[in-house]
Amino acid sequence: MPEPLPIFDAHLHPEGLSDQDLESMRFFGVERALVVAHHFPEPTSKALLRHFDDVVERQLPRLEKVGIRAYAALGVHPRCIPRRGLSEVLSALPDYFQGGRVVALGETGLHAGGEEEEEAFLEQLALARSLKLRVVVHTPLADKERHTRRILMLLRQSGVLPSRVLVDHATARTVRTILEVGHWAGLTLHPEALAAERAVALVRKLGSERLVLNSDAGDGAGDILGLARVANLLSKARLSERVVRRVARDNAARFFQVGT
Ligand SMILES: [Zn+2]
Repeated sequence: MPEPLPIFDAHLHPEGLSDQDLESMRFFGVERALVVAHHFPEPTSKALLRHFDDVVERQLPRLEKVGIRAYAALGVHPRCIPRRGLSEVLSALPDYFQGGRVVALGETGLHAGGEEEEEAFLEQLALARSLKLRVVVHTPLADKERHTRRILMLLRQSGVLPSRVLVDHATARTVRTILEVGHWAGLTLHPEALAAERAVALVRKLGSERLVLNSDAGDGAGDILGLARVANLLSKARLSERVVRRVARDNAARFFQVGT
């Protein structure tokens, strides 16, 4: 059997996965991963900070234990905005960026849209701007194009450098616009959103520039082997090895500045 292609999963929620799932991911080529702060019911500022601590103190070591080099993005998900105390959460965030393992703010963005979400998004972008952080931006499954347009507008308003922003869960209909304005785009292999064959077709069309692959595994009906399947299809797709390595691993390492 040939060695699996080395993969950097740029969006993972390991608290929703078993150790066995993580071992399978490692076995099928995932060498590095970005653990992204998630949403949960009844968010409070205390629960959010507990979640951040769990990501750093428990989830990163769980991945390292199975041989996956792990980094984190911390932020307030649009589905997880506390009714009170957002500013408390945001003022605690900078400390997390000290140790070198928390490499981005996220995921932030819009889910259902509306004033509350936009305000929380903009506040986090202001923080990212002042601390010069990378940002991982969530775009929702429902009404993807409309929300993505709005997100791109808010990003422009925020003054964050476009090259420091990864707009995630992009589709065939949104990926071009995202790349055109200078952002990075995340393609999420998800049974409900983007099939492996479709992702390969997109890479074939767009090339590898600023494209990053991820699984979003751990969030509902994710697919822990989706990335391995794409990597396999990419290697067979008569694309240059450089293109394949870039989208599967090197681009993510470059965007999050963790060495290639
Ligand atoms: Zn996610």
